[in-house]
Amino acid sequence: MRLFSTDIDGTIYDGPESAALFSKYWTSLRSAGSTPLLVYNTGRAIDETKRLVEETDLPEPDFLICGVGTVIHQVSDSENFEEWGEHLEQDWNFDLVWEVVEEHGEPRPQPDHCQNRHKCSWYWDNAEPENLERLVGLIEARGIRVQAIYSSNRDLDFLPVRANKGNALAWLGERVGIGNEAIVVAGDSGNDASMYEVEAVRGILVANAELALVESVRKISPYHASQPCAAGVIEGLDYHRRPIESASGNEV
Ligand SMILES: [Mg+2]
Repeated sequence: MRLFSTDIDGTIYDGPESAALFSKYWTSLRSAGSTPLLVYNTGRAIDETKRLVEETDLPEPDFLICGVGTVIHQVSDSENFEEWGEHLEQDWNFDLVWEVVEEHGEPRPQPDHCQNRHKCSWYWDNAEPENLERLVGLIEARGIRVQAIYSSNRDLDFLPVRANKGNALAWLGERVGIGNEAIVVAGDSGNDASMYEVEAVRGILVANAELALVESVRKISPYHASQPCAAGVIEGLDYHRRPIESASGNEV
């Protein structure tokens, strides 16, 4: 494993204890001479994520993928990769998406700090799949292509068609020269699914993963941990590290 891309909420973090547990494990990896890159791949915004890392024991990451794959950020120089933002512009128009969803009336907008140039975010409780599809159709009728990502039976993100956690991860892997076989991903909810779909990556599902995620990634056979949150992630990292380091250490 040369890069670990993990969701935060519900995956490595659900309070101080989980942060401390994951931190202890990650520090032990680093001090044992293994130095995989750490990527937090989250729906949270950059500032909010940095604040969480400061305020908890969560280890300092190397990169942040924030806003559900819409922003890629290098922590060492505190810079976003602008090329990624440009890559997302195709077939996208935030204002038009906003207008159509607002006209629809049912979803309620998430607060300003949850929105960015390439992420238009709403709350819609218990949305039926057909109703979601209909809304996407209304947006696409305006000449835009979007991905609608629905998580936790409430959070609805409209993203440019090229943006999601997995596409951003694949782009970053290429940028830093790490092959997908050397990437491990972990998550717990619907917006994590695209990470498992990156070709050749290996996955961890925590025991508390949503059923919809478990079902959508079944064909990729990720490691399904018996424990929830950080304890499950550690279980999965132990599982994935053993075979890789002996079998495919020179692949990339
Ligand atoms: Mg989560």
